[in-house]
Amino acid sequence: MFDVNKIREDFPILNREVNGKALVYLDNAATSQTPQQVIDAIVDYYQNYNANIHRGVHALSQEATDKYEQARLKIQKHFNAEKAHEIIFTSGTTHSINIVANGFSLLIKQGDEVLVSAMEHHSNIVPWQMLCERTGGILKVIPMNQDGELLMNEYDKLLSDKTKLVFCNHISNALGTINPIEDIIVKAHEVGAAVLIDGAQAAPHIAADVQKLDVDFYAVSAHKVCGPTGVGMLYGKSTWLNKLPPYQGGGEMIDEVTFEKTTYAALPHKFEAGTPNICGGIAFGAALDYMNSVGFEAITKYEHELLQYATQQLLEIEGLRIYGTAKNKTSVISFNIDRVHPYDVGSILDKLGIAVRTGHHCAQPIMDFYKIPGTVRASFCFYNTKAEIDILVAGVQRAVNMLC
Ligand SMILES: *Cc1c(COP(=O)(O)O)cnc(C)c1O
Repeated sequence: MFDVNKIREDFPILNREVNGKALVYLDNAATSQTPQQVIDAIVDYYQNYNANIHRGVHALSQEATDKYEQARLKIQKHFNAEKAHEIIFTSGTTHSINIVANGFSLLIKQGDEVLVSAMEHHSNIVPWQMLCERTGGILKVIPMNQDGELLMNEYDKLLSDKTKLVFCNHISNALGTINPIEDIIVKAHEVGAAVLIDGAQAAPHIAADVQKLDVDFYAVSAHKVCGPTGVGMLYGKSTWLNKLPPYQGGGEMIDEVTFEKTTYAALPHKFEAGTPNICGGIAFGAALDYMNSVGFEAITKYEHELLQYATQQLLEIEGLRIYGTAKNKTSVISFNIDRVHPYDVGSILDKLGIAVRTGHHCAQPIMDFYKIPGTVRASFCFYNTKAEIDILVAGVQRAVNMLC
């Protein structure tokens, strides 16, 4: 049974105060909070078996290596990858995307096309622009409508045998839209293009099955699924990962080194140069264990209730407009109030202990599309409550009274 009060006891930070008020943390799309189970895994690592992996014969090194590789298996199982070596540990989604963008520098030729959706995070736009600058490739954008849904008939028109790569987020961090990635992947494959899905915003809400999706690459950050910052993963089909060149040179990623020539290590080590975030990787595994113990079915159902409740309550406020009204969306609400700058609303909410995000949410093209400087974004996690939504709504009403 899903019991939010019991779940909240796992998150020590939720007990703290901000500006003399109980913290109401509604910035989960930027980063999620960390349960005691994950904090314990981090402490356990540094207290009991901190050592470098894959190199030592001594006991601690063996123990650290075993735990790190167990974490890889947990990630493999969670996303249902066929092989463990298809899971590459990275520093996060941004790093994962850059590995692919760098690798495709060798595969994209002058005039080849790369498609990205109109609702991308900056981390999913800039690497492709850099790739196209290096190669003479052409970047094209899949447009969206006012509700924040991709125009799939426009996507059909953009696809051709020139298309080599398609990039799209699974869920938009700025609007909450769940994109029809199944369709996007099938259609891209019909013209022979590879697909990378940015799963950073989806991973907290949906346990993606990479084999069922038949996706070529899938990227995730641990800190959005109750894990630590600075660690994440890149899933890639082994056929693709074997084709791409390594991203960084260094220790761990080599097979043999002489001054004449170096041969690269096999997957996954080819993409894991240097000492990784060992503790972070282990804690990432612990975070997925935690999420699965809560259960994704329960998470989806509960967060949907929160989304509906918050949407209804917020729309009662005069002059409030929500951006991102897709039929299929997760618990993210981006909004503005008539004639009020989002930053001013955010500052008032902060005084009340309420953490929301204000600004362009690393997605300026979306803001340009709506012709706004930014939004206030409240994003809910399974540890949030309806009582917290009431506090948010009262806070926004107060901001309206003060500013309008
Ligand atoms: C958070 C986020 C990213 C970036 O993740 P990092 O951990 O900062 O690398 C990329 N895409 C989306 C959709 C995100 O929500």
